Amino acid sequence: MTEREPSSEQADEALKAHHKPPHSTPHSTRTLFRRLWGDYVRQHWGRLIIIFGFMLVVSALSGAYPILIGYVFNGLNIASPDLVWQIPLLIIMIAAIRAAAMYGLALQVADLSLRVTRHIQRRMASHLIMTDLRDVMSAPSGTFVSRMTNDVNVIREALVRLINNLIKDSLTIIVLIGVLISFDWILTLVVLGVYPLAMQPIIAIGRRQRHGSHQLQEQMGQTTSTLHETMKGGRMIRAYGLEDYEKSRTSRMFDLLYQSQRILAIGRARIDPILEVLGGIAIAGIIGLAGWRVLSGSLDIGHVAGFITALLMLAQPVRALGTLNTILQEASAALSRLFTLLDTPSHVSSPERPEPLNAVKGQIEFQAVNFRYAEEMTLSDINFTVTPGQTLALVGPSGGGKSTIINLIPRLFDPSAGLIRLDGQDLRQLDLNALRGAMALVSQDSLLFNDTVANNIAFGRLDADETDIRAAAQAAAAADFINDLPDGYQTVVGEEGNRLSGGQRQRIAIARAILRDAPILLLDEPTSALDAVTEKHIQAAMQTLTKGRTTIIVAHRLATVRHADHILVIDGGKIVEDGDHDSLLAKQGVYANLFESQHFY
Ligand code: ADP
Repeated sequence: MTEREPSSEQADEALKAHHKPPHSTPHSTRTLFRRLWGDYVRQHWGRLIIIFGFMLVVSALSGAYPILIGYVFNGLNIASPDLVWQIPLLIIMIAAIRAAAMYGLALQVADLSLRVTRHIQRRMASHLIMTDLRDVMSAPSGTFVSRMTNDVNVIREALVRLINNLIKDSLTIIVLIGVLISFDWILTLVVLGVYPLAMQPIIAIGRRQRHGSHQLQEQMGQTTSTLHETMKGGRMIRAYGLEDYEKSRTSRMFDLLYQSQRILAIGRARIDPILEVLGGIAIAGIIGLAGWRVLSGSLDIGHVAGFITALLMLAQPVRALGTLNTILQEASAALSRLFTLLDTPSHVSSPERPEPLNAVKGQIEFQAVNFRYAEEMTLSDINFTVTPGQTLALVGPSGGGKSTIINLIPRLFDPSAGLIRLDGQDLRQLDLNALRGAMALVSQDSLLFNDTVANNIAFGRLDADETDIRAAAQAAAAADFINDLPDGYQTVVGEEGNRLSGGQRQRIAIARAILRDAPILLLDEPTSALDAVTEKHIQAAMQTLTKGRTTIIVAHRLATVRHADHILVIDGGKIVEDGDHDSLLAKQGVYANLFESQHFY
């Protein structure tokens, strides 16, 4: 133990800190939208000014209609012949100008909202790509896909409504109320008294919608991941006759989805009828009142006509403002999930002032390393040192913790306690990219992307040219089969490489690692029994690869174990034996048992 090593209490604290709920994001609708505005919308101020300009035109001109109607009625009264052609012409002109402004407005708002959406999606994706593996693995991948598509759509729709309603409709309402006052201020006061009352039930519905929307989005996330699983597991489902089970599972999902959406639809459906009834009562009341005022001589007929026109025109923007709250509540659920995701801090990250990582020699040292994924200890008190150029083999029953040891070296996870050093430097003091740049990982599930063979190899070193790629393929004993593929190096390998055999995928992964030419190699040997020829190829490729590099390998083959400089037997998260092949056999312990039970092939 060294004095730099954290105590186990400290490690527990660190772990608790990690497991505490993610950074608490404020959840009030107002705060959420203020943050949306600040982080994503405000920066488009130029476009917002243009939008505002169009809105001014649309709203201001809406006040012209009731005024003109008022003129027409009073004009017909005094029989002015010119009005008969002047007014229609004016109305057509106003309509044309308003239409043009509406078109520009719709285009600008759509473009703005799409830009905001793209920004959010890019940020979410880059967060998920950069964040701790632990967080990404904490939920099925479909959940994140759903957040990036469904949730973001809900936010975009709300943003469009927000811009349109909050500014354009408010402006229109102000203009129309101004017109109402100019016609008759007493009647206007009556109208203004009625509308706020109408809003109460609408606000109550909005609150319920937020809850419902949250549930719906969760449901959508689950549906996406279930479907993803169903599609991926197609072969298993058919082979095991699980069709009925799978059908009822998906059917149940869609049923839940139906129920959540139904609840939301009911809430939305209630709003328009409520507003309709309230609007009807208001108009009826106003007509009665206006009639009485005309009879008493304090209002002329033109003004009544204008007043009612303005009132009817008010209904649409008021209604839109009424439903706006509901939409905002629904989007709040999505925003809150978005910000919670973005605010979850990364624990595995580069230090502010990383120590320089000069020519890596490749000495790796584990000192009293403990690790756990959740409650249970996965690794305890792991100590070993691999000197540069040596090969260390990890063997033992599956589930013992071998892959976990490999994962800790490129800092896919950090130890809960203890230290890991590279050339004597604590991994956490090093720049993460430099650290990972010094190693190549070949794991059993070595992922191939749905891209060409050449590009899949080139992921090892993005600046490699074609000659390097071919040389790497040659060294990995992959050149022959690649040349036999329909398009050679340009053959697209299919999702996760499913157009290639297991052995072929493995050799491409090895070629990738050879191309990377890193001083440290982390290998998870394939366990699937490969045919003798492929096995020989892979074996040869592995030998080329490990020459002169520090190698840590999860070993399943006798040949690999035999050649290793050092072997650790891992069982139940502990090192139970260590030594080389001969000394371990002589011990007659766990290793000898594994050997006898043909654990190695
Ligand atoms: P091995 O490589 O020896 O087969 P692993 O290192 O893969 O063993 O796993 C060690 C233990 O850690 C197992 O009990 C396994 O269930 C658990 N484990 C592995 N990965 C995770 C994970 N991402 N989350 C939770 N537990 C895990």
